[in-house]
Amino acid sequence: MRYLKLAETYESLSSTTRRLEKIKILSNFLTGISESDREVIYLLLGQIYPEYDARKIGISNQLAIKAISKATGTEKEQVVKEWKTSGDIGRVAEKLTKNKKQSTLQNHILTTEKVLENLKKLPGLEGKGTVDKKISLITELLTSASPIEALYLVRTLIGDLRIGIQESTIRESMASAFFKGDKESSKEIQEAIDKTNDLARVFDLVKMGKIKELKKVKLEVGKPVKVMLAKKAKTIKEGFEAVGKPCAIEYKYDGFRLVIHKKGDQINLFTRHLENVTKQFPEVIEYIKKYAKGDSFILDSEAVGFDNKTKEYKQFQSVSQRIKRKYDIEKLQKELPVEVNIFDIIYYNGKSLLKEPFEKRTELIKKIVTNHPYKIIHAKQIITGDEKKAEEFYKKALKDRQEGVMMKRLSSEYNPGSRVGFMLKIKPEERDFDLVITGGEYGTGKRSGWISSFILSCKDKDKFLEIGKVGTGFKEKEGGGVSFDELTKELFPLITEEKGKSVKIKPKIVVSVTYQEIQKSPTYSSGFALRFPRFTATRPDRSPFDITSLNEIEEEFEKQRRNWRYG
Ligand code: AMP
Repeated sequence: MRYLKLAETYESLSSTTRRLEKIKILSNFLTGISESDREVIYLLLGQIYPEYDARKIGISNQLAIKAISKATGTEKEQVVKEWKTSGDIGRVAEKLTKNKKQSTLQNHILTTEKVLENLKKLPGLEGKGTVDKKISLITELLTSASPIEALYLVRTLIGDLRIGIQESTIRESMASAFFKGDKESSKEIQEAIDKTNDLARVFDLVKMGKIKELKKVKLEVGKPVKVMLAKKAKTIKEGFEAVGKPCAIEYKYDGFRLVIHKKGDQINLFTRHLENVTKQFPEVIEYIKKYAKGDSFILDSEAVGFDNKTKEYKQFQSVSQRIKRKYDIEKLQKELPVEVNIFDIIYYNGKSLLKEPFEKRTELIKKIVTNHPYKIIHAKQIITGDEKKAEEFYKKALKDRQEGVMMKRLSSEYNPGSRVGFMLKIKPEERDFDLVITGGEYGTGKRSGWISSFILSCKDKDKFLEIGKVGTGFKEKEGGGVSFDELTKELFPLITEEKGKSVKIKPKIVVSVTYQEIQKSPTYSSGFALRFPRFTATRPDRSPFDITSLNEIEEEFEKQRRNWRYG
């Protein structure tokens, strides 16, 4: 297929915000995809492999800039300048390609096969000369691209297509194109996607136009599955109303999601983002071998860090480095051990348990996993319909320094990839402060070039004192809110010093940040740090002298100490 056809489809998709319109455009496009073009489905979501595959394009803005510079014969500094003014590197590629095309005659035709061929080579490159090889693979594509093709090629490279479609839009478009929009087909397509995490594979089945073909799709041990996500409830009472009485109540551990697959001797560990982290956690493999029975299973769990000496649980941030770390694994394992808290099982000895009630699944966990504290345990759980008992359990979870509790309906199934109303999280209400950004750190991977973590300060008379760092709460792609790139653009002119990845920023931009707790901290100049800080909004209406003061923070800290849950 000509890449131009795909680029034009991207363009029509981005020209409307109406979902139904997008579905119409996409279903038209889908009916025209032939067998040999099936992988174009991956490109629709800006990917090159099925979602379960860890190989991602992963091109940084910096590398894209170099390739644009080379392909269009523009000085790198000029490309950077254009980017800093427009904030959209794809548009820069489009504009520079347009300028160039006026002087050179275009005689290549770019196909989706060629685009996929080159992009698929990118993740595998390693060692000396990698950067040059990547640049030449990209440049080859860019030199044959028309302006609109260049725009979407670059957006694909940096992982930011901006066409406002998600997996669910593709699902609805498939249902509309091949099942006349039938509701049941849409549900079956979603189930097939959730089990396989492979859109092209599902597309092959969808094209047959038979629901029974979709129903044949099975969970596969060893291939990552999307996890089930929770909705929120404000209070225990509200939780009971939603999930019914009695229900299961569990600690909501402050760690990271770990899904454990075992098939014979093969054990694999995946994160909620389907990354394979097996190599990073050798101790977990050992616990599974020793303390979990069964020939094959898929367990859902939360891994939590703890202090080896005091045995106190640690916050997620302090163990998060283990997830990405590829070297010194043994050393890190000793310094930052994790305990695996098993809370669900979705496959056991050759059989999917997705449709089994939670009550049965949780009983099975007790049968096959033996408790070994600080290694592997069943997530702490009570089954009750008594509000007083539930409140006490909630208090206990907070005293044990966990985030809160989860409430789960006993009869519920497991819906991979969905945020469901029968599993609820309950956490203490968050409070917020207005703080000013005084520094930051550049991100890595597709966030390189953007500041992705921001140092926040409160005021103390005419001084600003640091109180923490925030990197969550920003808009990823679509939807409302502020994104890293938008905020970075505002901050560029305020940077006073750059050192490696760190920058100092003149205090000007005020932001609202929620948090769950204030802690004493030697790390920051205010002497305090925020637990679970989360960005909620920029406050252009506030000046840096109009923000939360150190006095107010001290008062809040004292108030919180008097609160029952810290007593
Ligand atoms: P949140 O990340 O705030 O949406 O909360 C949901 C997350 O809490 C899940 O994705 C898990 O990673 C985590 N979690 C901790 N303990 C449990 C538990 N007992 N059951 C389910 N999820 C849990």
